[in-house]
Amino acid sequence: MTLEEEVKQFAVQQGADLVGIASVADINRYAPPGHRPDDILTGAKSVITFSKTRLVKGAWYSSDYRTPYYNNVWGILPGIATAVAQFIESEYGYYSVYQIPDIGLNPSLSLKLCAEMAGLGTRSMAAGIILNPKVGMLSIGACITTMPLKADGPMTEPVCPHPSCVKLWEKRHTTPCLDACHQCLSGEIAEGRIKWMRYDRRICATRAMTEGPSALLRALREAANEPDAGMRRSILLGSFTQRVFEMVAASTYYAQCFECTRNCPVCIEARTIRVKNTVQATVDAPKEVDANG
Ligand code: SF4
Ligand code: SF4
Repeated sequence: MTLEEEVKQFAVQQGADLVGIASVADINRYAPPGHRPDDILTGAKSVITFSKTRLVKGAWYSSDYRTPYYNNVWGILPGIATAVAQFIESEYGYYSVYQIPDIGLNPSLSLKLCAEMAGLGTRSMAAGIILNPKVGMLSIGACITTMPLKADGPMTEPVCPHPSCVKLWEKRHTTPCLDACHQCLSGEIAEGRIKWMRYDRRICATRAMTEGPSALLRALREAANEPDAGMRRSILLGSFTQRVFEMVAASTYYAQCFECTRNCPVCIEARTIRVKNTVQATVDAPKEVDANG
């Protein structure tokens, strides 16, 4: 087994669905200074990038809008990244970090770029999320290391647009994702490929990131400026602020509302459960009549 295979196998044992390796040199061809892996870890050579589906499939089929949020497995990505970083340091003796410093809308490293360079998926018209043909929308984690490893490199064929989106574009000049969010998304398909696309993350953030740490700061500011004691109490102890506190305590926040992925054919395919085992198949299959009665 190669070193690359050993590292990937370890990440899968920790729970990753997909694992790839991006070279820092490849990432730095696109990332501006100040947003590169070696700005975070001096001498970084590789970024072990992985994806773990956090949202169970059933959550998409709830009529209660809150269900997907409550069925998100938070904390699993940093857990895998921590284990991989410690594994590389203890087994191979290379410095590694697993927590990417994040500053609001200006993060110090694009995990999407890492995933592209590690061959896990390609950029989509739906909020620029990375799509993989098997797992759909990627939830991405990464471990930066000084260990030189052979990189996987980007996928050669784009996952987006799906053939059905190309057909829809030819008929109606739209796609399911563009249709879902005219405010944040725009783009064009030509000859079966994305010709151009725009994702306005500043509009998206104000619509979708309403319950994280910034919401807590806003609630505190509003409460501090509120002269009426009853209103102050309502702001601080109401159900909205309680939810915000819960999320901050659990280190969670939502980057997107995901409505642009709801009708994406790649995502629908990925979140459809296929019959996997013979027990289920026996239950679902029509009963056969024994020839002897
Ligand atoms: S996540 Fe929500 S707000 Fe953001 S682009 Fe998608 S549909 Fe629009
Ligand atoms: S719906 Fe999905 S596959 Fe189709 S264009 Fe949008 S992101 Fe791409």
